Amino acid sequence: MVDFPPLREELRGIAPYGAPQLDVPVQLNVNENPYGPSPACVDDIASSVVEAARTLNRYPDREFVALRAALADYLSRDARVTPEMVWAANGSNEVMLQLLQAFGGPGRTAVSFAPTYSMYPEYARDTSTRWVTGRREDDFSIDLEAARVLVAEERPSVVLLPSPNNPTGTALAPEVVTTLCEAVGESGVVVVDEAYGEFRRSGTPSALEQLSAYRNLVVTRTMSKAFAGAGLRLGYLAADPAICDAIRVVRLPYHLSAVTQAAALAALRHAPELLGKVDELRAERDRTVAWLRGEGFEVADSDANFCLFGTFGDRHAVWQGLLDRGVLIRETGPDGWLRVSIGTADEMAAFQDALLHVMKEMP
Ligand code: PMP
Repeated sequence: MVDFPPLREELRGIAPYGAPQLDVPVQLNVNENPYGPSPACVDDIASSVVEAARTLNRYPDREFVALRAALADYLSRDARVTPEMVWAANGSNEVMLQLLQAFGGPGRTAVSFAPTYSMYPEYARDTSTRWVTGRREDDFSIDLEAARVLVAEERPSVVLLPSPNNPTGTALAPEVVTTLCEAVGESGVVVVDEAYGEFRRSGTPSALEQLSAYRNLVVTRTMSKAFAGAGLRLGYLAADPAICDAIRVVRLPYHLSAVTQAAALAALRHAPELLGKVDELRAERDRTVAWLRGEGFEVADSDANFCLFGTFGDRHAVWQGLLDRGVLIRETGPDGWLRVSIGTADEMAAFQDALLHVMKEMP
């Protein structure tokens, strides 16, 4: 019997990645920004897309020069970043897949520290890269010596680490980035995935500040979270220009549509107002953490727009109980924990109310 379709062996029987997309009143499950872009931003995006539509008979700017300059300018709030140091693709998921296509591959190894973002092993699998994980400490931090040992044993060509980490919310200590960049050396790249970077607490530094010290450091960001642009699909990175040149070899030609480029440029023009909402969400995050702790839950310190809390004997029952009350959160992370994204004040009040009810009804 021949199996049809003739899938690669390692892909057989695998379900596509993705959280349930359910139509419920309070959606706190995929770390989206609960605020849509402002009317002024929507108008700017719309008129920019109209302009782009006039020339859709032509391929877009393959090098997305204007967008790279705007992204470099935005990142320069945290560190000196020039346009040649910037690369972008359709979501930071695509950026990271391209990184694995360029720097991973058969005979090469990628490492991370679990628990971490569940898409990473998929990039590795899809690029036939060997995948190895080290362990995080009980507080979800990474031990420097453990990092050194893992790198010495596995000799990875790619290290992938989110900061803040998904699903725990833990930011990487700068010493961990330093240790990994030095341990990996120039036979590998260290990718610090700052998808939630803008939500970090004051005092938590960005790895962008370390770019000038390490040629093998890559920092990725996205417009999906802080820029309220999950539907836009625009992720990007900052790194040595030689890394951007290497990715050019594996990218598909014209991978960023003219519509995407126009919309992203328009959204970037509204950065100050969008980042104002990020400040509100950071405050709401801190209130949520304090409330959960006040109710006796364990909560991982969070630098992100979500928090991991627990612990529950039967987390699925709690998740289901919340869903029955119209609140969708995420059943993910280590056993016994649940992850809630930070929504508006009203949404968080609904979450708190539902959680108290569910806990009262638990056997
Ligand atoms: N990295 C992390 C840690 C994430 O949690 C996510 C999205 N959930 C991404 C990257 C990908 O985001 P996007 O492709 O929307 O940029």
